[in-house]
Order: sequence, then C-alpha cells, then structure tokens
Amino acid sequence: MPVYTAPVRDMQFLIHDVLQTQNYSNLPGFADATPDVIDAFLEESAKFHQNVVHPLNVVGDKEGCIRNDDGSVKTPTGFKDAYNQFCENGFGNISMDPEYGGQGLPLYLAIAVTEMTSSCNQAFGMYPGLSAGAWRAIHAAGSDEQKQTYLPKMTSGEWTGTMNLTEPQCGTDLGLIRSKAEPQSDGTYKISGQKIWISAGEHDMADNIIHLVLARIEGAPEGIKGISLFIVPKFILDADGNPGERNAVSCGGLEEKMGIHGNATCVMNYDGATGYLIGEEHKGMRAMFIMMNEARLGVGLQGYAASEIAYQNALAFAKDRLQSRSVTGVKAPDKPADPIIVHPDVRRMLLDTKAFNEGARAFVYWAALQEELSHKAPDEKDRQKADDYMALLTPVIKAYLTHKGYQGTNDALQVFGGSGFCEEWGMSQFVRDCRISLIYEGTNGIQALDLVGRKLMAEGGRYWQTYFAEIDQYIEDNKNVEGLELYLEGLKKVKGQTMEATQWMGANAMANFDNAGAASHDYLQLFGLTALSYVWCMMAKTALEKKSDSDPFYENKLITGKYFVERILPEADTHLTKLKTGGDTMMSLPAEAF
Ligand SMILES: Cc1cc2nc3c(=O)[nH]c(=O)nc-3n(C[C@H](O)[C@H](O)[C@H](O)COP(=O)(O)OP(=O)(O)OC[C@H]3O[C@@H](n4cnc5c(N)ncnc54)[C@H](O)[C@@H]3O)c2cc1C
Repeated sequence: MPVYTAPVRDMQFLIHDVLQTQNYSNLPGFADATPDVIDAFLEESAKFHQNVVHPLNVVGDKEGCIRNDDGSVKTPTGFKDAYNQFCENGFGNISMDPEYGGQGLPLYLAIAVTEMTSSCNQAFGMYPGLSAGAWRAIHAAGSDEQKQTYLPKMTSGEWTGTMNLTEPQCGTDLGLIRSKAEPQSDGTYKISGQKIWISAGEHDMADNIIHLVLARIEGAPEGIKGISLFIVPKFILDADGNPGERNAVSCGGLEEKMGIHGNATCVMNYDGATGYLIGEEHKGMRAMFIMMNEARLGVGLQGYAASEIAYQNALAFAKDRLQSRSVTGVKAPDKPADPIIVHPDVRRMLLDTKAFNEGARAFVYWAALQEELSHKAPDEKDRQKADDYMALLTPVIKAYLTHKGYQGTNDALQVFGGSGFCEEWGMSQFVRDCRISLIYEGTNGIQALDLVGRKLMAEGGRYWQTYFAEIDQYIEDNKNVEGLELYLEGLKKVKGQTMEATQWMGANAMANFDNAGAASHDYLQLFGLTALSYVWCMMAKTALEKKSDSDPFYENKLITGKYFVERILPEADTHLTKLKTGGDTMMSLPAEAF
C-alpha cells in the first residue's frame, strides 16, 4: 500500500516565509487568513486526505466507474461518502465568493488543499476540480440570475459542474464543433449533439450536474467565432430552484482508460436538451477560456502532485531496499547489503524529482498569489502586472509542470526497479494516472504554441518584458546577499538564455512560422526553467535568513536548491541549442518518408 504524508511544513514555509502572505492583509479575504487559520486548515486537510482520500486511490483504480443500463454511473466504493465529507469540511469552496456561500479565503490556501487531493487521488480530485472551473466560468460570465440559481449549490458541493468541449471530430480545433443550439420562443435553446471524454459527466455523488456546453447556434459564423456557451443542467430546476424534470442529456458510455479509473470519462449525448445561454451569442470561447485558465493551473498542479506522492514512496523504498555495497565503503554493516539510497544514481533520480517538486510547488503558490493580485490589488498597475504574469505563465504552468511531473513520477518508479512495474507497489498507478495531465486542458504542444503564438507578442511583448524586468530587479536587489550568489548566477544565466531565445524568435519566427512551431517546446522549457530558478532563489534567500543549527529544514532546502542549479538548470543549454536549429530539417522530410 503506497504511503502519503502531506508536505505541510513545505507548504507553511512557502505561504508564511517565502511569499510572506501576511503582508497582503489589505486584500479582501486575506485578513481572515491569519497564519493560525492557515496552519489549522493545512493540518485538518492533511489528516482528512491521508486517512480518507488516499486509501481510496487504489480502490478507484481497481474498481473504476460502472455505467448501469439506465445510463447512471456508479463511482468506486467510498467515493460518494468521501466527497460528502470533503464538502462538509469546506475543502471545495475555500476561495469561492462569500456572496454565494464560499469562504473567500486566498487561492494559495485552496491550491495547497487541492495539491493534497491530487497527490492522494487524482481521479477523485477531478470531481470537485471540474466543478470549480465551471463555477468560475458562471461567476465570471453568467447573468446575476444564473449566478443566484446555480452558484450556491455548486459552492456547497451539492451540485457539480463539467466542461463539454470535445467532440469526436474536434479536440484541439474547437472551430470544428458541430453540436447545435436551436433558439426557443421562451429564450432557452435546444442543445443537440455528442460530446466525448467528458470528465465527471455522469456520477452518483451529487444531486445535480451542471454541464457547460459549447455549441453552435443555427446560422452562426463558421469556426471559433460562431461558438456559444450554454448551461445544461442534468435536472431542470423546478419553480423553487430544486432539481425537477430530467433534461434530455445522458451518458452514452464510459471510456476504458490507461489511468484515472475512478473518474467517469463519459460520452455525453444531448438530444434536444434545454440549455441556457451564458453571456452573448457566439462569444462562448471567451467565457470558456476563463474556465480553462483556472483549470490549467489545476492541471499543472496535478503534474507535480503526482510526482510528490511518487517521490515519497520512492524515498521510503530507497531507504528500505538493500542491494550492493556503497562504492565508498560499507554504510550498513549490520545488514547484508546497503540500502539503495547510498548509490549516487538512485540519489540522482530522487533529487531530480525532489528539486523539481519543491520548485514547482513554489511556482504554483506564487502564481496563485499573482492570480489574487490580478483581481484584488488596490492599485490598477499591480493588477495589470499580475494579470500579465498569469497570461504569460499559465501555459508554462500547465505544460512544464506536467511534462516534468510525469518525468519525476517515472523516475520515482525507476527507483523501485522491477517492483515499480508491478501493481502491488502502486507506482504504476501514479505513472498511469499522471499521464493524462500532459494531454487534457489543451495538449502540452498546444500550450507551447499558445506561449509563442499569443503570449510572446501580446501587447507588444509587454508580458515577458515585465516578467524579465522583475527578475533583473530581483537579481540587482539581492546581489549582496551572502550565500545567494550561486542561485542568482543560475537565474541570471537561464534568464539570459530565455532572452536570447526570445530574440531568436523575434528574428526567425515571423519570417517562417514553422520556426516558431519547431522551437515552441524548447522555448516553453526554457521559460519553465527560468520560472523555477526564480522561485528557487526566493526559497534559498529565505532559507539563508532562517537557517539554524537546530532545524535542518533550511540547510536541506539550500542543498536541494543547489542541486537544482547544478544539475537541472543546465538543461537550458540543450533547449537553446535545439531551438536555434529552427524548423528546416524537420519540415524537409516528406510525410511519406517518415
Ligand atoms: C481522460 C480524458 C479526460 C478528458 N476530459 C475532458 C473534459 O472534461 N471535457 C472536454 O471537453 N474534453 C476532455 N478531454 C479531451 C481533451 O481535452 C482532448 O483530448 C485534448 O484537448 C486533445 O484533443 P484530441 O485528443 O482530439 O487531440 P488532437 O487535437 O487530435 O491532437 C492530436 C495531436 O496533434 C497535436 N496537434 C493538434 N493540432 C495541432 C497544431 N495546430 N499544432 C501542433 N500540434 C497540433 C496535439 O498536440 C496532439 O499531440 C479529455 C480527454 C481525456 C483522454
């Protein structure tokens, strides 16, 4: 049985010491999030996730979801009860608007709790996760009446939400959507069509499911500009706002998948279902993007959350498994061989994963703070700056953290040797479950194109210029901090390399768009390395300030950060070299020669 201990100490270090969130008590909701409140929340959440959610991970993997003949779906044993407890404990609405029953606490706290859910049981976490995304889209783009009608029950968790974009002929290219919306005389629409791979599309955990559906109103312009967004509840609400008549939407089947068996991935059939337009006709993608941005932060988190639990198990195994003697002499003379953690190559895998996980966590918590600042900072300039960072870095969070998180999860499996490949130890499930995070919410390839195609040149390059200027200022402000030199040198170098890549893009991508496409993956990796290097500097600086003989936490943090600089940052050299070769060679091989 795999183990999990929520990394509460690391979370507290980030929230209290590195980000110093107590300095933002002027922001709405932040004053209530005192260090005591945060600590209590984290401790309670840790207990709940370790004791209730984590044991269900294997159950979900083995049982999966079952579709009954009437189209209803049964989730794995224990999921419904755990979900009820999750909601009763308030873990699903931490940062939601108090006007609709949410707790209005800062997003970084919600993110910390979500990390625990995702590490413990990714499939389970997707039910409230998708719901939170749907909640945010209605909150941002719905009418007052829609918000009053749907948000309170979604906030409490009594109703869940879904996102319905994908159809058999369209995944990435949503301009190909065929689902239809026919306007009715009462202002509603009749929605018809088939959606596939809809996560949490049907299940037995909530009284109603609020589907957000992309469809094309008859006569709408072709392509992405003709798509509208609709609320389609599973049960149409009666006059009192309670679930009443069954809507014409049903689950036509469940997918057999590589992982996340505990999450119902549904074919959803809409047969003239009653739908309610959100926002304006043909402007559905705008509202959907709000939801997707939130979801992309959550999916990036899934990447390192999987890597975290996989690492914890690999570490326990490495301390226990005895094989060979250390090359520098016997370390465990009372045993027939040394534990494998003495071997440098095992340490390489563990430290690659650990240094990534801790950097990724810091990056995501920092981003969650930026997300809050983008809405709540009193000064318009600060709101704009934070908004720019989120626009620029959301694709990096999604793609870099899932790409490297999957690598970390795989490395952790490798530490187990053959045991990693056998189901008994649970490592296979972590790898299988984690794999989807590179694909859904827009594949990682599409995230890289978003970065180079949209974000890089937006507002005349203001997003990246502001971000790089902040990094330059940080380096300047801290250049005399004793002990920080190595970390700052690393940051300076990787930021310079990313800048060089940006200039290369400017000179070569516009002239030939294939150069942009060919360079996009490596460019995003460079950005990811820069972002992690920046937060590693912040962590190292705090660790230097707080270092004491009585608490090894800070010294260990500095060693891990040093490892990141020495062993992970050099990946930037390769990415820059590859990027600069452009697209000529890869585009010159004829398709039939592959
Ligand atoms: C388990 C699971 C759960 C899901 N949950 C949901 C959900 O809840 N709601 C929902 O709506 N959808 C959901 N999806 C769908 C998911 O979002 C899509 O699978 C994803 O967006 C990719 O679309 P696709 O599979 O059609 O791949 P395609 O779009 O066919 O892409 C195939 C490959 O081509 C690449 N590619 C495509 N176009 C380009 C381009 N222009 N340039 C470069 N490369 C390109 C892609 O990166 C990818 O590698 C889910 C899928 C799965 C498997």
